[in-house]
Amino acid sequence: MRKHTTRMLALAAGSALALSACGGAEVGGEPTGGATDDATAGGGGESIKIGIKFDQPGLGYQDGAEFTGFDVDVARYVAGELGYGEDQIEFVESISANRETMLQNGDVDMIFATYSITDARKEVIDFAGPYFIAGQDLLVSVDNTDITGPETLEGKNLCSVTGSTSAQKIKDNHAAGVNLLERPGYAECVTALVAGQVDAVTTDDIILAGLAATEANAGKLKVVGNPFSEENYGVGLPKGSDQCEAINEAITKMIDDGTWEELVTKNTEGTGYTPNADLNPPTPDDCA
Ligand code: GLU
Repeated sequence: MRKHTTRMLALAAGSALALSACGGAEVGGEPTGGATDDATAGGGGESIKIGIKFDQPGLGYQDGAEFTGFDVDVARYVAGELGYGEDQIEFVESISANRETMLQNGDVDMIFATYSITDARKEVIDFAGPYFIAGQDLLVSVDNTDITGPETLEGKNLCSVTGSTSAQKIKDNHAAGVNLLERPGYAECVTALVAGQVDAVTTDDIILAGLAATEANAGKLKVVGNPFSEENYGVGLPKGSDQCEAINEAITKMIDDGTWEELVTKNTEGTGYTPNADLNPPTPDDCA
């Protein structure tokens, strides 16, 4: 795995441009390890803004000055293949409801944020990938026995996130008798669940597994384990981007060279989660 030096992370977290660059050398896609010359300089030395989640442990998570998770690691790998050193990446929070707008406004160059490829989203943005396939599931209290799938939610209080496919699917297919509470992020939904304010939280199984396994929630919650959708995680790009092919090549290389497997294992360790092996690793779709 790549080494995340404090220097790099401090840079990624904050003002990448505050340090004046000294070396002019392009990093050419390879992490420069302990190199002292700063890649914000000179030819090809532009930084890249990547949208991630900040509150999804194991996927996209801000831990002080550090960013961790599968999406973050995949983003670093892909950005590396595109020629960006780790210290040229600026991670920006992209909550579910803001992703399309952030790409449209140029607030970020690309998004790796448990971002499902959908036709509706493809109307306004482009996607590369997918690089992972998850499934929508339910998170409940560890002693709950009556919630076993979306058809058992009648009369229940359910939490999901605004702008997600998860909330949309409930509204489209399972709304009858379900009281849906929407929050900006899943961590907020989990807080409501632990506090007894809702009976269940719904989103992708891998997200729920990461949230359930945090120290604060250990032993309190369980993922139902009955996925009822296929969520194809893509790399969000502005409409008309010319990066899709190169990103797909990077994803394919990451899968072929064994990195994908390593990153999944590392980031799901201790959660009890295993990806659906019939669907993973996926093959990227053709670019538009
Ligand atoms: N993958 C789903 C989506 O893109 C749910 C997870 C999320 O909100 O990031 O909406």
